[in-house]
Amino acid sequence: MHEFIEVRGARENNLKSVSLNIPKHKLTVFTGVSGSGKSSLVFDTIAAESQRLLNETYTVFIQNFMPHFAQPDAEELRNLSVAIVIDQKRLGGNSRSTVGTITDTYAVLRRLYARLGQPSIGGAQMFSFNDPQGMCQQCQGLGQAATLDLTVLLDRDKSLKEGAIQFPTFVVGSWFWNIYAFSGFFDPAKKLRDYTSEEWDKLVNGVESRVKLGTVNANYEGLIPKFKRLYLTKNFEQMAPHMRAALEKIVAFAPCSLCHGTRLNQAALSCRIKGKNIAECAALEVSELVQFVRAIDEPTLAPLLATLSARLDDLIAIGLGYLSLDRETSTLSGGESQRVKMVRHLGSSLTDLTYIFDEPSAGLHPHDIQRLNTLMRQLRDKGNTVLIVEHNPLIISIADHIVDMGPGAGRAGGQIVYEGDPAGLRKANTLTGRHLHNYQPARTNPRTATGKLTIEHATLHNLHDVSISLPKGVLSVVTGVAGSGKSSLLQEVLPRRYPQIVSIDQSPIRGSRRSNLATYTGMLDVIRKRFATENKVSASLFSANSKGACPECQGLGLIYTDLAFMDPMISTCESCGGKRFTSEVLAYKLQGRSISDVLEMSVIEAREFFSTNAALTRILTALEDVGLGYITLWQPLSTLSGGERQRLKLAIELGNTPQIYVFDEPTAGLHMHDVDNLIALLDRLVDSGSTVIVIEHNLAVISRADWLIEMGPGAGRDGGKIIFEGTVTQLLKDPHTLTGRYLRQYCA
Ligand code: ADP
Ligand code: ADP
Ligand code: ZN
Ligand code: ZN
Repeated sequence: MHEFIEVRGARENNLKSVSLNIPKHKLTVFTGVSGSGKSSLVFDTIAAESQRLLNETYTVFIQNFMPHFAQPDAEELRNLSVAIVIDQKRLGGNSRSTVGTITDTYAVLRRLYARLGQPSIGGAQMFSFNDPQGMCQQCQGLGQAATLDLTVLLDRDKSLKEGAIQFPTFVVGSWFWNIYAFSGFFDPAKKLRDYTSEEWDKLVNGVESRVKLGTVNANYEGLIPKFKRLYLTKNFEQMAPHMRAALEKIVAFAPCSLCHGTRLNQAALSCRIKGKNIAECAALEVSELVQFVRAIDEPTLAPLLATLSARLDDLIAIGLGYLSLDRETSTLSGGESQRVKMVRHLGSSLTDLTYIFDEPSAGLHPHDIQRLNTLMRQLRDKGNTVLIVEHNPLIISIADHIVDMGPGAGRAGGQIVYEGDPAGLRKANTLTGRHLHNYQPARTNPRTATGKLTIEHATLHNLHDVSISLPKGVLSVVTGVAGSGKSSLLQEVLPRRYPQIVSIDQSPIRGSRRSNLATYTGMLDVIRKRFATENKVSASLFSANSKGACPECQGLGLIYTDLAFMDPMISTCESCGGKRFTSEVLAYKLQGRSISDVLEMSVIEAREFFSTNAALTRILTALEDVGLGYITLWQPLSTLSGGERQRLKLAIELGNTPQIYVFDEPTAGLHMHDVDNLIALLDRLVDSGSTVIVIEHNLAVISRADWLIEMGPGAGRDGGKIIFEGTVTQLLKDPHTLTGRYLRQYCA
């Protein structure tokens, strides 16, 4: 009965009428080079249809509030079950969301305190920082308060007249400035450092009073209360960018002075179990908290305690034992976010669901991946179907079934090139099959350093007094299990000591919704000029904010509908059919193509089309080199994955003057074949004089490093140390480190 999910004639994006049977209640891995069509099949076809069918079960009234899913382009899809997509989208920016709240573990802990805590203060809501009964009244449960950094706001070497108050709305001559300068309380020509303590107090803390400015009465109050009232209590996110930037300079976030960052009121904090209050429990690493919970011997609460320990064990098993429940989810990396989401589902007793993972190995050391594999097998054994888009050989090896897409990317892909078990894939003559046993040899001739970057006595998060030298002019790889301290060292400490560091990571690219590949790289300007010259019209006609643009979508081709609590829904603009421009503009052609046709081209197609234009060729070749050849020119930057964003940043750097680069897992989203290309690019950067430091777990990259650093030995409190520094050859001989062990297997 319904042994397979049946797909017939799928044609989303580049899929060439793909038909296949996916075994139910099994673990299937989808592989293939970037752009081969894995996402088009798994997310845009299977997950999308499952979502759409589920939505159809709601009443039309409710459907109106839900995103609308178009029917995927496929002849037939049968035997689908409810699909749950567990991706790497970061978990929201709301500071009220913590690891504890999102995994429901904090809710269980609250029930425990309500039942067992002394003195007893009643219901579980009394321990919630998101409930008025539990939250600290001063910070409303946020745990921190924005305070004015007077050392930045005020220049004590200046007088009011000389502009001592350094803030845009207080510039000399402004209305606010007048209130202070002509209040009669100060001599406008006196330098602040010469103020008496009374004057200083009046300036910063002064209470509300009336002052007369000419014929007008104005309200006087000190700078601290004024900033508090005007700005600090407002939501910075909703302010104009220049105001927000100005405020970010003069504001410091400090733990709330009343609750000391615990977010809770005194009643909640006074209630203890075995000497610890709930905030102290939430601040423990999960691996320590589980021991605390296990030690509670209270037979009447056995089920509650068992639930809590099981949830905490899941977090540990998935490699997140180093997190604490009070950690804000907005500070988690993409990989950590994905694993936190997974824990939510492990606790569920629902079965016969289809779980879909997008590269779950992201951010994980080979050692962590073994544990991840165990959890994914557990999901399957509970009676679920597990679909995984992955390139990592360690995950490929546990698949019951493999679907390899290819043979190439974009138009050259969209077909199934292998279906079957892992053993068969190793013998298959496909890019994936060949790469499974065709490795580049480990580096035996490391380049010589041209200098060094030293960090001394670094202390941050789990780093305690770490000192290290990073060689310049070579390719260094820093590895270690998740949570060992790699990002803390290289993305926080290093840039603070060496501000010239260029960090190339997966963070969102600044810019608006309007940015796409063509605008961001500057290609659109060149393309518009080509159209203008060819047609003897003004280049501005082809700009998205001109009168030539579709008035409905302002030249985006897309309509964004904001939905509370969810990502905005994106749909094609119906007015222009996604063509972005008025029919008048679309009538202008370049070699027979309209501006819309050109923007629809992939990077590879555009490179062929513009082969005589040197400026465009340079950018397009760089994009193709970093493995982005399949992206279309108009693709909004907001739709790029983290890995694609990082490679776009890399493409823009190629050809620049030598720099010191720090990359954060640049292989994310890359097939083994693309990884080889990436290593070649990193080598190119080094050979042209740059220093390249890469945070990586990928064994192919590790094996090609000139210099290796391993952090560990464990995660969180068990990590934070440098446990190896040396060459690949030295690591292969080192009997102690985890990476050495996996690298030996890899190179064998
Ligand atoms: P993979 O998941 O294997 O990296 P994708 O399924 O994302 O590959 O992409 C396959 C092809 O479809 C690529 O050429 C890509 O540019 C194209 N494609 C993906 N999403 C869209 C989209 N929303 N609109 C148009 N083309 C797309
Ligand atoms: P890695 O990059 O090796 O995965 P990290 O540097 O991200 O490791 O983490 C090292 C330790 O520092 C972990 O215990 C982690 O929970 C902690 N940590 C990282 N970022 C933060 C943060 N923003 N706030 C508090 N703790 C953090
Ligand atoms: Zn507080
Ligand atoms: Zn439009």
